[in-house]
Amino acid sequence: MTEEAQMYDKIGPEKIVRFYDAKSGLKGYLIIDNTRRGPAKGGVRLRPDVDELEVFRLARAMTLKCAMADLPFGGGKSGIIADPKKLSKKQKKTLLVAYGRAIKHLAPSEYVSAPDMNTAEQEMAWIVEGNGSKKCVTGKPRRLGGIPHELGSTGFGVYHSTLVALKYLKKDVKQITFAVEGFGNVGEFAAKYLCEAGAKLVAVSDSNGVLVCPEGIDFSRLQKIKKKKGSVTAYGKGKILEGNAILDVRCDVLITAAIKDLVRLEDASRLYFSLIVEGSNIPMSHATEELLHRKGILVIPDFVANAGGVISSYVEYKGGTIKDMWRMVEQKVVKNTKLVLSRKGRCPRCVADAIALKRVNGYS
Ligand code: NAD
Repeated sequence: MTEEAQMYDKIGPEKIVRFYDAKSGLKGYLIIDNTRRGPAKGGVRLRPDVDELEVFRLARAMTLKCAMADLPFGGGKSGIIADPKKLSKKQKKTLLVAYGRAIKHLAPSEYVSAPDMNTAEQEMAWIVEGNGSKKCVTGKPRRLGGIPHELGSTGFGVYHSTLVALKYLKKDVKQITFAVEGFGNVGEFAAKYLCEAGAKLVAVSDSNGVLVCPEGIDFSRLQKIKKKKGSVTAYGKGKILEGNAILDVRCDVLITAAIKDLVRLEDASRLYFSLIVEGSNIPMSHATEELLHRKGILVIPDFVANAGGVISSYVEYKGGTIKDMWRMVEQKVVKNTKLVLSRKGRCPRCVADAIALKRVNGYS
């Protein structure tokens, strides 16, 4: 079966929208995968290489994530084809306002957008400006009644999921070493909480390269350098490597927090980690996860570990407080990580898919 043929099954997608606006240069996709449980929820990714299949895979991950978290949302996703490094603030605003307008016929009635790679609370405000309804996005600035993802809800959830998995593996968080792929919204907060809990950060990457520092990376120094110089590679100590060299790091845990398909089937033999927690969406195929399971590497699936963002979105959507958000993220992520690990010996992805699909189909 071709990858494209795999897009169509009993779950969805319900709608595939391609948008193009000659005036602003906006080009991209909105895919509504499934709305049985409620309006499709899923962020907008801005990257030069985002394509339809990627947006569909992310939309499906959202369908499963919302069902797993037992939220009254379906799954969807948007992709804007543009290079954030080549856009001025004004050009970015033009694109996001145009995107808000382009999805007006579907958002907020059938689809509610949110931040994803290269989009954050400011971009959400621009989308509202183009769309006209504050309900069309979550992750908005507080002045618009939002709970910004910049508070770190997803990374906080990834941290809690990691703690549950470590306990399952009978490992003490204070004794482990870890690596983080991507130092954006998800990676930075996951690293922060794990460092605060006593784990040792030994490698971190961003789009400029991979910093490897076996003696340990000082989190607050790293955070300041990233903010000031724009990249973790300016840390000033350790080795700087290229590409996906983060996969070769010899440490206990890998947190993925950037690109799709980071780990491929052929990478299985080079991995040293005993635990991979998927902070990013679709960092590997299901076949790769099953292979790693057979090799004894525990992988916590994306829609279980990184549901913090959509749980925060739900709290915002129903008018809850930031305090409600922290409580609900911890409670749901811990509960679901324990649930997928409770079927001893089974691949966590298979367990999670079965639970989520049952919850989607329950709403036929
Ligand atoms: P972000 O734009 O804030 O950060 C992305 C980070 O990845 C940046 O540090 C960037 O430099 C880095 N990066 C880009 N290309 C890279 C590469 N080739 N190698 C290593 N690092 C690279 O994005 P984010 O919001 O943190 O999202 C990261 C992932 O987490 C995505 O897969 C996203 O779908 C997923 N996710 C995000 C949220 C959320 O609330 N933001 C929620 C759930 C899942």
